[in-house]
This record gives sequence, C-alpha cells and structure tokens, in this order.
Amino acid sequence: MATQLYPDYPPDGNDVEQAYLLSNLKDWSIAHGLVVRPTASYVSAETDPSGALATTAPVTLFPSLFPRVCFEQAMSVAQAYNELYSAIASDEEWLKQTVEELVDIDDFIAELWKVYLAVKQEGYVQSLNLGLFRSDYMVHTDPTNPQSGPCVKQVEFNTIASSFGGLSSHVSGLHKHLLAIDAYPEAVGSMINDKSLPESKSVPGLALGMAKAHEAYGPSTGGLPTCVIFLVQDPERNVFDQRHVEYELNKTHGVRTFRLPFGRVLEDTKVDSDRKLIYTPPHAPSKQFEVTLVYFRAGYSPDEYHSQRDWDGRLRIERSAAIKCPSVLTQLAGTKKAQQVLATPHSPHLKRFLPDDSQAAEVLKTFAPIYPMDESEAGKEARKLALDPETAMRYVLKPQREGGGNNVYRRAIPGFLKDTPATHWPAHILMEMIEPPAQDNVIFRNGELQKGGVICELGIYGACLWRHKNGQSDRQILENFEAGYLLRTKGSGSEEGGVAAGFGSVDSACLI
Ligand code: ADP
Ligand code: MG
Ligand code: MG
Repeated sequence: MATQLYPDYPPDGNDVEQAYLLSNLKDWSIAHGLVVRPTASYVSAETDPSGALATTAPVTLFPSLFPRVCFEQAMSVAQAYNELYSAIASDEEWLKQTVEELVDIDDFIAELWKVYLAVKQEGYVQSLNLGLFRSDYMVHTDPTNPQSGPCVKQVEFNTIASSFGGLSSHVSGLHKHLLAIDAYPEAVGSMINDKSLPESKSVPGLALGMAKAHEAYGPSTGGLPTCVIFLVQDPERNVFDQRHVEYELNKTHGVRTFRLPFGRVLEDTKVDSDRKLIYTPPHAPSKQFEVTLVYFRAGYSPDEYHSQRDWDGRLRIERSAAIKCPSVLTQLAGTKKAQQVLATPHSPHLKRFLPDDSQAAEVLKTFAPIYPMDESEAGKEARKLALDPETAMRYVLKPQREGGGNNVYRRAIPGFLKDTPATHWPAHILMEMIEPPAQDNVIFRNGELQKGGVICELGIYGACLWRHKNGQSDRQILENFEAGYLLRTKGSGSEEGGVAAGFGSVDSACLI
C-alpha cells in the first residue's frame, strides 16, 4: 500500500466541533444546490411520490491534500490536450484505423461508426465542433526514483458527457466557506488557508464554451428563436450538476436552453430542408426553436440505445446543422483504444497531432503505460501479464465504455479473460494501475459519515471550439481554454471512483 501523505490530516475534532461542521456543510450544500436526487434505497418512491426531494451530494468534509506541482502540471497541459483531441477528432483516417480494430468485436463502436459513415456519405452541413473535455489524473511517484517527486499520470480523457463541472465549483465554494466560518478544527490552519484552496471555475468555464459555440453558430436564418439542447438521460439523479451550467448559460449569456431526454429526439425535433435542427417543446407545441448546439449528457452507453429508434435519433442530430458536443468522431476520439495508441512508446502518433515538440513532451509526461490486448508483439506481452495472477495485480483491464463500473481490476483479470473468448480480448486495453499516495478523509454520503483511507482523482475541464470541414485537412481553432477542475475522492477500498455510479464523492483540492 502507498505511504500516507500526511498522517495527521484531517484532524479529529471533538463531538461538538464535528456537529458544527456537519450542520454547516448540510445547510450550505442545500442552500447552494450542491445536491443530487436521492437513491431509491435512501428515499423510496413511496416516501416521495412526486419526486420533490433532493439531498446533499456526496462530498468530503475536508478538502483533500494535493501536491501543488501536480495540480499546476495538470492545468498547464489543458490547452495542449484540447489541441490534441480536436486534431484527432478531425482525422478520419487515423480514427478509422483504431475503430477498425474494434468494429467486429464491439457492436456499440460499430454502430457509432455507421452513423458517422451515413452522414459522411450525405455530406456534413456543420463544420463547427465543440469539445467540453475532461482529462483525469492521479498523483504518481516513480517507485524506482522517489527523489524525482510526484507528477500526474492520466487515467483517461473524456470527450462526451464529462460530468460534475456543475457541482465542482460548489464544493470548492463549500470548503472555502467552512474555512471562512472557522468550522474546521484549529489544527488545519497551517494546511487549509486562502492560498491553498484553488477556486474551481468549471461552471462559468463550461457555460462560456457553450456560449461561444452558440454565438459562432449565428442567428436563425429562418427568423426562429434559437436554443441550446441539453440531451439528457431520464431519470437523472445528477440533474443539478447539469442545471448549474444551464442556469449560468441562461443568466450570464442570455441563451435559451431545454432539456431533451435522449429517447424523445424523434418526437420533439425535426430536421428541415436545410438540415437545421428544429425543436418543439412538448409543453408549448405551437413554438419552434432552431437548435444551435446539442450538448450530450446522454448517449455514451450502449444501454441507452434500446432500439433502432434511438440510433435514428442519434443520426438525426449528427446529420443536422446543430453543433454537436460531441460529434460522433469526437466521441470516438475519446475511446480508451485511442488513448492506448497515443501512449504507445516511441510512436509517431503524438507528433502527428501535436507538431509543437515542447507541447508534445509535456503531454507525453502525463501518459501511463497502456497496452493493446491484440495479437501484436505488445499485445502478446500484455496478454501474458494479464493472465498471470501475480503480474495482473498491477493492472486494470478496460473495455471501450464510459460512465464507470465497466473495468476489470487486478486479481479479477485472469479469470475474466478465461471466461471471454480470445477473439474479444482486443476490445480491451490493459493499463498499469496508478498508485497515488494514501491519505485520510471523511465522506458524507446518503446521510452517513465514512472515515478512512481515500484516493483522489483530479479532472481538468477544457473547452475547445474548432472549425473543420469533413474530408479536408485544414482545421481552425476558434476557442481553446482550460475550464476549471474537479477533484473526486473515493474510499481506498474501492477500485472505481465514479460519484454517480455510487463509489465516490466530490471534493476540492488543498494544495500542499
Ligand atoms: P470511465 O470512463 O468508466 O470513467 P476510467 O478509465 O476513468 O473509466 O476508470 C474508472 C475508474 O477506475 C477511475 O475513476 C479510477 O478510479 C479507476 N482507474 C482507472 N484506470 C486506473 C489506473 N490506471 N490506475 C488507477 N485507477 C484507475
Ligand atoms: Mg473515468
Ligand atoms: Mg470516461
């Protein structure tokens, strides 16, 4: 097990101090919308038949400790990562090669590719693309060279539905508030102070990215009012995370927004003769809006595509003139397979997309070792490591899926592979586990306190708006900025860190 970062942090307060901290945390969270819809096991449908209740989002009581150099390193590569992934998403030839390895063994990737090909054949009518990305990292110390100090290694790069940007700004606000009202025991004074708590600007950052796309689309040529669509899952427990960004877009940028459940695309939209996407709100059927941007908080998991109708809905959006966040190609750029190909040692790929050597070198430093599970030399080597129970302990096996709960960890890998036909092994990648330093914290989730060892994952949001005509090589970046951060913290007993999937909590960083 990794060594403890600071054994005395966070300090135990006495009962009175703890009660004060918790009552302030609960009230501030609810008063500021740091909330989620409760799970059915916490508040049953019988207790709340009208669905009126929300509860505090799972959060840490204290901001977790995070090395300042690592935080700054992750922030400093945000724009390079935006550049990298906008380049990948604009390179059909390259993506085709990674997708080709998957199409016969991964139906979901195959269906997404079909949507892309169908629109390509007809011709894309929108050349603007918006990426609202989140690059996730953990702190790593080289065990063979501990003097080299900590650095961040990338867990994954998300190009679709990167969540928690809404709540992240608020948990950073919560911890600052608890500090300001002296709710923390005095002993934390040397650690937590105004300089050590960076503000997370993810709400204004993500909303600004969307506002820029909306503006670049321009006014409706047919004289309709315009809107941005939040394409969502229904039901959605994490709705307030999305609402914070939506309200910022309404209030600060004067942009009209609607939430459209993924399953209702065909009912509530149509594509006109110019392929403008027209939305009719079910509550106001006499009204029509021209959609400038479709922001996906749904559509990333095969479980959401129940029938051909759902694929038809996805196709309708893709072929429309609305800007997609993300387009199918941008979604495919975010597969774990693409991440693995980029991370191949001495490969020419990174240089292809990031011609600036110093930028590429900084991005390269954040890659952790990742291997294919195919029949290449590297793949054969990885298969050996994954099948041996002893070496498998250092790895995680990942399929091409998003949203948490899909990976196979450590000791479970050999058995999983034995139960999976070898023809399907290449649908996965094998990644070395990053082992961040251990530390303690207290998580407040579903009304209960859980104290113990935790592991933190830092996510850096990035917004990138670019213009690229399908089939052409030139690409023009219109906006590229870092858009705030997220710290997610899970109990060190759990391999998964997803907050919505029920494993983790939202946190903020205390830089040390
Ligand atoms: P998803 O797209 O489903 O979120 P991730 O690659 O982020 O997939 O994996 C889910 C979780 O598994 C992460 O949040 C992290 O807690 C853990 N995890 C994934 N890869 C690693 C790794 N290389 N080292 C340590 N933990 C990892
Ligand atoms: Mg993840
Ligand atoms: Mg992901």
